[in-house]
Amino acid sequence: MSGFVFNEKPITIESGEGPYLYSDDGTEYLDFGASYAVAALGHSHPAVTSAIQEQAAKLTYVQASYPVEVRTELYEKLAALAPGDIENVWLCNSGTEANEAAMKFARSATGRQKIIATKRAFHGRTLGSLALTWKQKYKKPYEPVAGGVEFVTYGDEEELAEAIDDETAAVFLEPIQGEGGINPASAEYLQAARDLTEDAGAALVFDEIQTGIGRTGSLWACENVGVVPDILTSAKGIANGLPLGATLCADWIADGAASHGSTFSGGPVVCAAANATLDTIVEQDIPGHAAEIGDYLTSGLEAAVEEHDLPVREVRGEGLMIGVEVKRGANRTLKHLALSEQLLALPAGRTVVRFLPPLVIDEEHADRAVDAMTSVLS
Ligand SMILES: *Cc1c(COP(=O)(O)O)cnc(C)c1O
Repeated sequence: MSGFVFNEKPITIESGEGPYLYSDDGTEYLDFGASYAVAALGHSHPAVTSAIQEQAAKLTYVQASYPVEVRTELYEKLAALAPGDIENVWLCNSGTEANEAAMKFARSATGRQKIIATKRAFHGRTLGSLALTWKQKYKKPYEPVAGGVEFVTYGDEEELAEAIDDETAAVFLEPIQGEGGINPASAEYLQAARDLTEDAGAALVFDEIQTGIGRTGSLWACENVGVVPDILTSAKGIANGLPLGATLCADWIADGAASHGSTFSGGPVVCAAANATLDTIVEQDIPGHAAEIGDYLTSGLEAAVEEHDLPVREVRGEGLMIGVEVKRGANRTLKHLALSEQLLALPAGRTVVRFLPPLVIDEEHADRAVDAMTSVLS
C-alpha cells in the first residue's frame, strides 16, 4: 500500500520556501539538511521555478542525440565552471549514475580494471557505485557488487601510494567525506593523490556530489586546495531539486570513453533548472556567502559548546558542510531537533549531526540552529 524503503518521519510536508518547509498542519521547519543538500538555493527558488515552467511549456523532453539550446548551454556552462580543463560533460539523473559513468570512463580510457576507494566513503547505491561505498550495511545483503575495488584509509598518503600501481584505473575520493562523518582531507593528501595517480597513469576522480555547487565556500571543494582531478562528479544541488547528475572529464578520459548512454540524459527541463541554478550561484556569489555564513555558524556552534558545556566532541567541516560529533546518539538528537525545535538536519554515521543548510541562509537562521542545538543538548 505504501513505500517501504524509506523510514518515513512523522511530519508530512506540504510546501517549501527558501530554507523553510511547511507541514500539513502549518508548522514551519528550518531545513538545515536542504533535503539531502539538494535545495542549495532554498526550496522553490523563483528563478528555478520559472525556468522549469517556461521550458516545460516549450519542450519537456527530447533525446540527447538531438542538440537543444538549453542542454548545449548547460554543457558550455559546466565546461566553463569546471576546475582546470575538465571540459567534457556527461549528464545523467543522479549522483550514483554520475559515479557509475566515472568508473566506466576511467576503465575504458586506461584499459585497466582496478579502482581504489576509501574507508568510510559514500559514492552511491547502484551495484557499481556501491562497490566503492564502504558501509557493509548498505552493501553486504546485495552482493556481489562490482569487482576490482580496493579500499585504503582516507587521509593516509602512504597507504594510497602502496595501493596505486600500473593496474589502477582510478582513485575515487570525496574532498570531504560526507555521509562517512564529515571528514575533511588535507590539501597535502589531495595533492599527493593527484601526483600519485598522474605518475601511475590512473584517473583521479573527485566525487563532489555533496561538496560541490558552492557548499564548501568555493564552487567545487577541490578549488579550496588547488587540485584538479581528471574526472569530477556532481549531482544533489546542481538543479536545485530536479534530478540531475553530471560527470565532467578531461580530454584524455572523454577521448577514451567507450559506448555509454541513458534515455533521460540532459532532458530540457532539468537542464533549464540547472542553468538557472548555476547562473544564480555565480551571479550572487553564493559560494562566497556560504564561506562567510559557514564560518559564522561553525563559530556559533563552537561557542555554544564551550559556554554551555554541551556533550559535543568536535565541530568540523568547511563552509556550509558542517558535522557536529555528539557524545550521545546522533539519531536521538536529530529527533529532538525536529520535533521540539522544528530544525531538520541529517545524520552522518551514528555520532555526527550533519548540517547542509541551503546556501542562502542568513545569520538569523544560523542563530536559530545554534539555539536549537543548545537547548536539545543541554
Ligand atoms: C548523495 C551522494 C551520492 C549519491 O547520489 P544519489 O543522487 O543519491 O545517487 C554519491 N556520492 C556522494 C558524495 C553523495 O553525497
